[in-house]
Amino acid sequence: MSELCALLISWLFLPTSPSRGLIVYDNPSLAAPDHVDSDGMTPLCAACELAPAKVAVALAVALLDGDADIDLATPATSDYAGFTPLMYAVAGINPGVAKLLLKRGADGTKRTTQAAGGHAAGSSALGMARLCADSGDPDYAETFTVLRKRCCSTCGVTSPGLAAKTAGEKKHLKRCGNCPARGSRARYCGEECQRADWVSRHRRECAEARRAREAAGTAV
Ligand SMILES: [Zn+2]
Ligand SMILES: [Zn+2]
Repeated sequence: MSELCALLISWLFLPTSPSRGLIVYDNPSLAAPDHVDSDGMTPLCAACELAPAKVAVALAVALLDGDADIDLATPATSDYAGFTPLMYAVAGINPGVAKLLLKRGADGTKRTTQAAGGHAAGSSALGMARLCADSGDPDYAETFTVLRKRCCSTCGVTSPGLAAKTAGEKKHLKRCGNCPARGSRARYCGEECQRADWVSRHRRECAEARRAREAAGTAV
């Protein structure tokens, strides 16, 4: 068990509410919220894949309020090089944490730098969530929906990220008008990303979703 995990677990037994002080509990060397432990993990990365989900969210809030870098990825020397907190939220099946991170401005365009955990090098958090959801495990489906609603299906940019890129101009991701489920339609930052996704994947995905919706309608 890493020093950080031990620290997080010991925090669970503290009587006080989460605060930045949890990081210094019994180990002042971890005072910096972006401390990287011997496994290459930051406190935020570790918190994001933690169970139970309520604890993961409480820890992530405390760390972000303590100025933890929301996108700080595990270093190149780690077995999980380039994994961001958002990717750990996907791996840990923590949709609540993923929602929190995206609300606080996490960058969905980040990519892993090597193959790890069944995901190819160059994977985005959304790509990871899609691959996990495709495995048929319903627990992953919710995380995928959280990311899909907030990130461009091709490049991963979020609405706030897009607005920042275009010098503060208010911009929102556009939805695929053909997707049958209103709430979980694929989102895009622009035509270029929509076209690329349509050619590589979404033409089939969208048609399958429509067929499934029609079959469900006929069955009722
Ligand atoms: Zn895009
Ligand atoms: Zn669609």
